[in-house]
Amino acid sequence: MRISGVVAEFGSSIFSEMSALAQSVGAINLGQGFPDFDPPATLMAAACRAIEEGHNQYAISHGEPALRQAIAEHAARWYGQHIDPDCNVCVTCGASEALWCAVQAVVGPGDEVIVLEPTFDVYVPDIRMVRAVPVPVVLQPPDFRLDPDALRAAVSPRTRAIIVNTPHNPTGRVFSPEELAAIAQLCIEHDLVAIADEVYEHIVFAPHRHIRLATLDGMAERTITISSGAKTFAATGWKCGWAIGPEPLITAIRRVHQFTTFASATPFQYAIAEGLRLGDEFFATLQADYTRRRAVLLEALAQTPLKVFPPEGAYYVVADISTVANGTSGYQWCRWLAEHVGVAAIPLEMFYLDPAHGRSLVRFAFCKREETLLAAAERLVAHAAALRW
Ligand code: PMP
Repeated sequence: MRISGVVAEFGSSIFSEMSALAQSVGAINLGQGFPDFDPPATLMAAACRAIEEGHNQYAISHGEPALRQAIAEHAARWYGQHIDPDCNVCVTCGASEALWCAVQAVVGPGDEVIVLEPTFDVYVPDIRMVRAVPVPVVLQPPDFRLDPDALRAAVSPRTRAIIVNTPHNPTGRVFSPEELAAIAQLCIEHDLVAIADEVYEHIVFAPHRHIRLATLDGMAERTITISSGAKTFAATGWKCGWAIGPEPLITAIRRVHQFTTFASATPFQYAIAEGLRLGDEFFATLQADYTRRRAVLLEALAQTPLKVFPPEGAYYVVADISTVANGTSGYQWCRWLAEHVGVAAIPLEMFYLDPAHGRSLVRFAFCKREETLLAAAERLVAHAAALRW
């Protein structure tokens, strides 16, 4: 059977592989970024209520009015961003579908799209599936700062868009005002569309602060902001995301979305609408909880020979294994770690077009209950000396 050339090149996702391995060997899964705790009880009740109240058929394709209104209120409340829920929002099946629709809507065959590496693993396949070309700009350890000269050098006459993820998976970077200004300047100069993946917008560690790229001067008319209920509300299985942007771009995204999934699950839209309206206390507690989880993992890793990059946001810690892995790839080392230490992590090789860049980097997720993190910490610390390959 003939498989399309682009798809034939895709392997299975490293997240699925490592989660399956973790399950088969009984490892604590700090690989895939899903919480091992529930969404807030009020949101689960809201989802059940929505089902009982009869919100069980197709939603309006671009999103139920209650959710689009809540997204607009949230944007005004947190970023002073004024958007019209009727023409600036499209609700999708998670941020993943919003990314797919955004790329389909603005990028065509032969166009180039800049990605900042390491990149979340869906960007490059999304770009390739429209027969466009991903152009990487590597964020260099140890601080993973964006080099404005490298960014500028990546632009060509064929560049159409840049995908920016802040707070950043996997490095935990929260891009600074200067870095975002450099991106904005380039977008304006070269008439590029910015696809801003901000799914971790509410998981940021003091003193860092999340800045919405679309709020920079000249960016509102060229930025598609993507977010989701998955991370903020510990509801990755609800697959409720959205894109916000100027009317022409959102109209195009709505057209792709109507022929991709048509609509996302109706009852969860009502629940996430309630979530976005939760009081300041919920968001403060979210930050405090993640600050504690981050501390538990960092403290454990500090007792191992791994070199660690403390994150500024999101819920991952990147570690450099070059001092322990003795030339072994992160992929092999992560398999070994799951099998022999009982902790699953994710190798970063697959987050780069040239896997060599990520060969000695691995990622641990801390979106887990404190007891899960403490159990993983115990294993890591107990095996600290043995972590050397
Ligand atoms: N963007 C980033 C940076 C992510 O880390 C994830 C989830 N791991 C997504 C998008 C996907 O979000 P969703 O589950 O809402 O599709």
